[in-house]
Amino acid sequence: MIGNEFGRVNIEIDWGTGLDTLRATGCKLAVACAEYGIVLDGAHRALFDARATGRLLFAVADAFSRACFPVAAKPLRHTLPRRVLTRDGVTEINVDTPYLASLARGVHADVDIASYAILLDRAIADLQLTGEERHELAELATELGLDDQGRERAHREFLDGMIDAALEDGVVTEDELDQLCRAAALLELDANLVTRRTNPYRLVPEPIALEAGLVVCFTGAALDDFGNQIDRESVLEVEAQQHGLLPIDQFRKACGLVIAADTASESKKVREARRLGVPVASVADYRTALRTGRPVIATKAVSNGVALVCTECGASWMAMRRSSKPVCTSCRGGSTPRVSGPDESSVVISMKPVVSQQPPAIQTLECSQCNRTWERPRSRGRRPLRCPTCAATETASAHQD
Ligand SMILES: [Zn+2]
Ligand SMILES: [Zn+2]
Repeated sequence: MIGNEFGRVNIEIDWGTGLDTLRATGCKLAVACAEYGIVLDGAHRALFDARATGRLLFAVADAFSRACFPVAAKPLRHTLPRRVLTRDGVTEINVDTPYLASLARGVHADVDIASYAILLDRAIADLQLTGEERHELAELATELGLDDQGRERAHREFLDGMIDAALEDGVVTEDELDQLCRAAALLELDANLVTRRTNPYRLVPEPIALEAGLVVCFTGAALDDFGNQIDRESVLEVEAQQHGLLPIDQFRKACGLVIAADTASESKKVREARRLGVPVASVADYRTALRTGRPVIATKAVSNGVALVCTECGASWMAMRRSSKPVCTSCRGGSTPRVSGPDESSVVISMKPVVSQQPPAIQTLECSQCNRTWERPRSRGRRPLRCPTCAATETASAHQD
């Protein structure tokens, strides 16, 4: 089963030769632990059981005489990754986040952080990171020897993978962007990591009249029709001043138009303009507009708001503005009403509770290959045609080729 799960995220496992504590002790884990004085709390949660088994192994180490070989994991390449979604107690796959779930499918992870990425994937699939999930992630990070920097790297790689997947079709819808921003907030990453990559797909045209008093800012090395650089100070700025415009050197929020040699550039001025929703026009379009007296068609990024994470339950949502201590509507409803608070000013645009409260729905599927039936939690998406056994056999033989 674990092998299947690793297979789904493209990691091939060589199980090596293990030491079996069951064979050594001859009794179930809980009984063996009691006998050797090992505390087993949270029994039947995989992590706790694994730790107890580890301690038990040291206790009974003398019982083993033959050599053992450690497990080796290596990522598979050129295979289509599949989704892991086995959140404890939630067998109904959340219906409001098929997009995020499908994005996470494309996420690859380095082997050293693969298990962390898997847990992360499970934990944020519903766009909520509960205290328990945070705790589990922190514990796993410690076990993997991931320091804060390593964790941030893992989070960034995870988010980058999601963004890559989102940009693949060249369209970023409002909903997609919201989910990416919420994921970034849950991963404690700057929303700019998302928006600076999605902005080019989310620009809207904005006609700007080049009227006297308009504050403009130039960026990049603009070339004329003959490929010669147009000097900013002696040509562009003088030209702007002659038309009553107010050129500034450093980009400020007061700037009404950024004029860029390359509007798709990642220059700091263009990036800041996109972040603040200030229009950006190309030098060529701007100079044409100056000559003709018509407005220049600039583009600007429309803000989708700020992703907030509830400090109480770890739910995420999009709001109009930042909040120092965000609390979601359902947590507010559950507690006594606050008189006032820093979070009262934030307006909740959308709040989607995505974890289904319904009991797990099991569906019975029939294998197209062996005609046996098997059960699995009902989930969205295409149903598998073959049973897990046939599918595994197929995969195994494909690898031998
Ligand atoms: Zn909450
Ligand atoms: Zn079958």
